[in-house]
Amino acid sequence: MAKDPGRVLIFDTTLRDGEQSPGASLNLDEKLAIAQQLSRLGVDIIEAGFPFASPGDFDAVQRIATAVGSTDGPIICGLARATKGDIKACAEAVAPAAHKRIHTFLATSDIHLEHKLRKSRAEVLQIVPEMVAYARSLVEDVEFSCEDAGRSEPEFMYEVIEAAINAGASTINIPDTVGYSTPAEFGGLIAGINQHVPNINQAVISVHGHNDLGLAVANFLEAVKHGARQLECTINGIGERAGNASLEELVMALHVRRSYFNPFLGREAANPEPLTAIRTEEIYKTSRLVSNLTGMAVQPNKAIVGANAFAHESGIHQDGVLKNRLTYEIIDARTIGLSDNRISLGKLSGRSAVRARLEELGYTLSGEDLDDAFARFKELADRKREITDRDLEAIVSDHTQQLQAHYQLLGVQVSCGTNLQPTATVTLRTIDGKQRSVASIGTGPVDAVCGALNQLVQVPNELVEFSVKSVTEGIDAMGEVTIRLRQNGRLYSGHAADTDVVVAAAQAFVNALNRLVSSLQSQPLHPQQTPLPVL
Ligand SMILES: [Zn+2]
Repeated sequence: MAKDPGRVLIFDTTLRDGEQSPGASLNLDEKLAIAQQLSRLGVDIIEAGFPFASPGDFDAVQRIATAVGSTDGPIICGLARATKGDIKACAEAVAPAAHKRIHTFLATSDIHLEHKLRKSRAEVLQIVPEMVAYARSLVEDVEFSCEDAGRSEPEFMYEVIEAAINAGASTINIPDTVGYSTPAEFGGLIAGINQHVPNINQAVISVHGHNDLGLAVANFLEAVKHGARQLECTINGIGERAGNASLEELVMALHVRRSYFNPFLGREAANPEPLTAIRTEEIYKTSRLVSNLTGMAVQPNKAIVGANAFAHESGIHQDGVLKNRLTYEIIDARTIGLSDNRISLGKLSGRSAVRARLEELGYTLSGEDLDDAFARFKELADRKREITDRDLEAIVSDHTQQLQAHYQLLGVQVSCGTNLQPTATVTLRTIDGKQRSVASIGTGPVDAVCGALNQLVQVPNELVEFSVKSVTEGIDAMGEVTIRLRQNGRLYSGHAADTDVVVAAAQAFVNALNRLVSSLQSQPLHPQQTPLPVL
């Protein structure tokens, strides 16, 4: 990709780094749905996974490369450590895409060299160009990351970067892996690279960073000021620990303050071209999709996409907003795809209306999937007067979560009340078609349901989170239940929505159990040598 100072590339790593968030693992169909939406959003590069890690990761990257990597689509990228095995697997996985990239990395800090890699600086200076050149022999577009850049000695890192570029890397990524930098330091790091690496004009400088001190977005914006032109970020800022830099915050900061960030213009310039190619009207939809499929809720006061970001509670504000939106709003809600004129569907809405609305929400369904969604819509419309976008999203994400599912919830029946021992009867069907029912008592209806499900599934687990919230307004609202289970130190989340919260709880529990079981079944390809990368 040609280097253009007036363009900031958006590299989305929701499906790689974001999916490493505890409990956020996604199945293949969910990954595909997100990749398709990222393509509609207009991201430049999708980092689709780490192909060498497991057969599941390899398949996901390959399917995304096939389905989303068309000629006018984004670059599909895979992550690979600086070894031949990793790079080869990565090249095979991204091969079907029209535009493909291998992203390889090696640590440049002494602490990593000594304790993790047990390699000398001279060895690193030999391995990096060798592996970059090998990757370049397989694909045109190679990105190299200096792992632990923040703690690396600058002079040595400059040498490594120069060698990587000479060997054919066209993007150099600088990660703040542990989220320790401040904006001034991070900007200085980028400025130093620009100043001291002689061939840096042949590569795009990229940044990656984590939000441990809440500074990831601020660090990236300062990096842009100093010449970084690729930002590695995730939808809703999901990712390891406190998460990655959030795509929507970066894009909207660059959009709203585009005069300030445009390298060619002063502050006064009226309305210059945006720096990113993101279709901002797709932002809200994308945020909802990722939140629904990962089960990672967005906090209400989150910038840009939180439920309160555009809500004006106070009377004074409302008055001001009504008179002129610009009094208290720096962004028109429609810019991110939120509109006031909400179209709601009801009992009489036909299949084509439902399908059209789903498409506008980013879900393209056909055949059996559409039949299934429409049947669930009809069923819900019998119980609920007005079906909103949020209801439709809940219907579809429930359906996607159940594809390739090991267990399917066929029925749940509960009796409870005062002076009555809560009892639940649950029926499940396993993937091989067998049906089983079990009854269980509990301290409450949800406890009874979970008890029955645990008896049926027989996989030890610990319930660490159970939360209920209402999806829409009104007494007939859908209740959304999010559940997190822990097993062997790993978290598995499940979520579901229904007008009956006990049914939603049962379905959410089954969804989480399905994730747990499928993760137990998919063993990593090379368990000893494949720790998750820590970029
Ligand atoms: Zn990371």
